[in-house]
Amino acid sequence: MPALDRDPTRVSSPAHNESALLNAIFESAMDAIVAVDSDQTIVRFNTAAERMFGYERGEVLGHPLDQLLPARFLDAHRHHVRSFIATGDTTRAMGHLRPLVARRSDGTEFPIEATISQVKIQGRPFATAIVRDITARRQAETDRLKVIEGEVAARAEAASVAEQRDRLQEILDNLPAGVVIAEGAGATIAFSNAAFAQLVTSSDTSAATRHHQDFTMLRSDGTPLDANASPLRRALAGERLQNLQLVVQRLDGSRIPVSIHAAPIYSASATKPHAIVIFQDVTLLQQADQLKDDFLALVSHELRTPLTAINGGARLLSSRGRMLSPEERVEILNDVVIESERLDQLLGNLTTLSSLLGGRLEPATEPILIGPLIRSVTASVDPRYPSLMFAVDLPAATPPVEADPALVEQLLRNLYENAAKYSPDGGRIATQATVAGGRVTISIADEGIGIAPQHLDQIFERFRRVGDTSGIRGMGLGLYLSRMLAEAQGGTITATSPGPGLGSTFSISLPVARG
Ligand code: ADP
Repeated sequence: MPALDRDPTRVSSPAHNESALLNAIFESAMDAIVAVDSDQTIVRFNTAAERMFGYERGEVLGHPLDQLLPARFLDAHRHHVRSFIATGDTTRAMGHLRPLVARRSDGTEFPIEATISQVKIQGRPFATAIVRDITARRQAETDRLKVIEGEVAARAEAASVAEQRDRLQEILDNLPAGVVIAEGAGATIAFSNAAFAQLVTSSDTSAATRHHQDFTMLRSDGTPLDANASPLRRALAGERLQNLQLVVQRLDGSRIPVSIHAAPIYSASATKPHAIVIFQDVTLLQQADQLKDDFLALVSHELRTPLTAINGGARLLSSRGRMLSPEERVEILNDVVIESERLDQLLGNLTTLSSLLGGRLEPATEPILIGPLIRSVTASVDPRYPSLMFAVDLPAATPPVEADPALVEQLLRNLYENAAKYSPDGGRIATQATVAGGRVTISIADEGIGIAPQHLDQIFERFRRVGDTSGIRGMGLGLYLSRMLAEAQGGTITATSPGPGLGSTFSISLPVARG
């Protein structure tokens, strides 16, 4: 049967020597060598093949090639080997097996690399395959791929951690409150946001010397806080703090009142303790609180003054009224009327202010004639200031303005009250109007205490009183409210004065009514 000699011991003749050499090469080859005849019957099977496939050569020689292949490839393989033996075309041979797979005697499969060649011996074609088990190489490739995949995944994770950190930093930097993450027994600042840097950094500190540790914490009464009581350390020790009122003292000595929230951060992966501390600047809140207290004190005082006068007058009339002359009674009653009107105006101003600030005041504008309104207000103020002279001089053709009559009346009342109370006895209060650019401007000029140029802007601020106002009642709200009233109706209010002692002029400008 086999045309190929397989006995390595026959070395007697030169031909035999050569054959023996070839046989020795064949048997000692590291790769498996399998030869089949045109019937695909195995005719050669070397030692390496025995090792690789797990068959004794006696078990395979003379048997079909099938047992060396996985069953699923058998048909295709037969077809290709047949065509290879017939044509010698290697390009298509075994292409069906890519990646090439062989089968051991125990049925296990393994990847191979095979080189096939066609030989003809005495006119008969044989196919020879040199087969190499590439399990180890495959494994190495797979291992290398795994390493690369691992590296790619690690890099991606690092990038995503960095991205998340950047995003967190951005979110925290945009928070209005200072945020600090402290770590370790030394309470070192591991992270802080922009608001925190702003809170603890002195404005005059150059960027180069800015350092987050350059601040100290004080109790709200200004006494120093010892290191262990610092919110950072307390939170690192596991304490949760809510609304702790403290003061941050910057390097330049400036102090910021803060409300502090702090909590420990528990994380399984962290090796040292961490804590988050939030610093809320409460300067504005404290100022607002202070303002409210001042306002209440001022209002109570302002309300009490006319009330005391009314009460005093009424008591006098009720206890000793009969003993007084009619003139005296009229005088007391006049005082009661004047003070009750003042009280009314004060309460009116407060109510309007509260509606304006609360956004509840909606001006109901309509075309109104300003002349009669001015005359009605001056007529009600005039009797209370008998020593003053009110002069109203309006052009006959003053057009109607678009305004809310009740609000304009309140505004005018404030301006005339001021003009009167800041005027000396015998002073003149002159009202004029001009029309220009679709607006009517009403000017109220007095000969009173006047206003210094540097104070002209300040008088419209709330609670602001300037110049020598001692002995003149007031709480600095009238002009603040008047500006809001003017602006709520699309108007403006301005003040001019040549200076202290030289009188002042207040001008309101309102839009001319359409049509
Ligand atoms: P008040 O009169 O109650 O103090 P206002 O808000 O009406 O408050 O006025 C604010 C300040 O502006 C006054 O305290 C005063 O200093 C100044 N002021 C207002 N009107 C006049 C005026 N006609 N002449 C001089 N100073 C005035």
